[in-house]
This record gives sequence, C-alpha cells and structure tokens, in this order.
Amino acid sequence: MKKTVFITGGSRGIGECAVREFARLGYNVAFTYFKSEDKAKEIEKSTGTCAIFADVSKSEDVNNAIKIATEKYGKIDILINNAGIDEFALFTDITDEMWHNMIDTNLSSAFYASRAVLPQMISRKDGVIINISSMWGQVGASCEVHYSVSKAGMIGLTKALAKEVGPSDIRVNCVCPGVIDTDMNKHLTKEDLEQLKCDTPLSKIGKAQDVVNTLIFLSEDKSSFITGQIFGVNGGYII
Ligand code: NAP
Repeated sequence: MKKTVFITGGSRGIGECAVREFARLGYNVAFTYFKSEDKAKEIEKSTGTCAIFADVSKSEDVNNAIKIATEKYGKIDILINNAGIDEFALFTDITDEMWHNMIDTNLSSAFYASRAVLPQMISRKDGVIINISSMWGQVGASCEVHYSVSKAGMIGLTKALAKEVGPSDIRVNCVCPGVIDTDMNKHLTKEDLEQLKCDTPLSKIGKAQDVVNTLIFLSEDKSSFITGQIFGVNGGYII
C-alpha cells in the first residue's frame, strides 16, 4: 500500500520541492498552502497531489487539514512540519504581535499537526514526524531572536516527543537547513550571498533538493533506528 506524506507549507520553497519529489517517488502527498493559492493549485494539478488551505498558526485549520488528508488517503504515515516565516528585527523592536505570529506559525503549528496525527500513528504503532528547524535554532541569530527561539523550540519538541512516542514505533527527527536558495532569502543582496558562501566550508548556497534528500532518507525504513536526532544540512556552516 502506498504511503502518505503530509507536508505543511508545500506551495513554495523546500515544501514545494518535497511535494514534487515525494509524488515522483510514488507517495500519496497532501500539503497545505496559505497565501499562494494559485501556485498550490498548479502544483496539485501537475503532481496529482492534494492541496489543502490552512493557516498553520491556527489549530482548527491544522486539525481540519489533517482530517481532509486522512479521509482522502485513509491514513497519514509521514508528517513533515515545514511551514515557516522569518523576519528581521532588533530584539527591542519585536512587538507582542510579531512574537506570537512567529511562535504560532513556526512552532505551535508543529505541535498542532503532530497532536492531530499522532492518535492514528499510535494506534497503528507506526509513523514518522520530521520537523524543519534551522541552523539558527541551533546557534541563534542576531536580529532574529523570535525566529531563533521558534526554531530552537522545534529541536526541543523533536527530542521530547521522540522519547514519548518511541515505544509506539514512531520516529521523530529534525532537519536544520543552513542557507537555502528559496524565497525566504530573496531579500539578501548579492554581497550578502557572497559573504554567506565565504562563511560556508563547502563554499555554496544550498538547494531545496539538498534538504529534501534528507527528508526522504528520514522517511524511509533505511532510517528505522534513527529518532530524536538533529540533522544539519548547511554545507558545514555550523559544525
Ligand atoms: P518559503 O520559500 O518562504 O516558503 C514558506 C512556506 O511556508 C510557503 O509554502 C508558505 O505558504 C508556508 N507558510 C508560511 N506561513 C504559513 C502559514 N501561516 N500557514 C500555512 N503555511 C504557511 O520558505 P522555505 O525557505 O521553503 O522554508 C521552509 C522551512 O525551512 C521554514 O520552516 C524555514 O524556516 C526553514 N528554513 C529555511 C531556510 C532557508 O534558507 N530557506 C533555512 C533554514 C530553515 P504560502 O506561500 O501559501 O503562504
């Protein structure tokens, strides 16, 4: 029986690449989109996947999306908590609204989706959850404290949940990308990108596919003895 993967934020960037690659490999794929409806519908059509609207910062939207995907495909085997935003601001300029929007979109979303999908995984004693954090969640970024906190939270969520659901044969792992060529880094100047390349031992900017290759490995039975782990995909930027 085909496995089903549910990916949050599949309309652009790393999530879009994951949707396309898992579909190509023969998985059933359901994914969420928020603002990029036209793009999501185009991806849905060209890949034969299922695009579902959800603002992942809202638990009712996430619960509804998991329900729709489960009804369509019968079950969800793999959950990838990918949707996220970033924002640059001095710490003292971060408003309550900015703080809560960041934490709710990047971290609470993973709590909501994992909570919604776990009952079916626990009853089957089978499942995989992968959280997308960031290297800034590992080491912290200046002028991105709220982003760094949300991503550090993903690491804590991964480790604690892996211990709790391991006895039910559910694996929970975390991927921390470095600088990846997506819309999220569109604001960077050519000079910024050159500097980032210089600071990276492999002297290049990563591609969404680099992250997705790790997601595929962590989804497959080849990684069946791996849980609670944090994987850097960062060209050596963080060692
Ligand atoms: P991206 O190109 O900006 O795409 C972000 C995705 O998240 C979009 O599909 C977007 O959907 C979705 N999203 C944002 N807010 C949402 C919300 N409230 N509800 C539902 N979906 C929402 O970003 P990316 O580079 O692919 O990043 C993917 C993940 O990797 C993020 O968690 C990010 O923090 C992490 N990451 C990225 C990098 C990097 O260098 N790119 C580095 C480290 C970590 P819509 O367009 O439909 O709104």
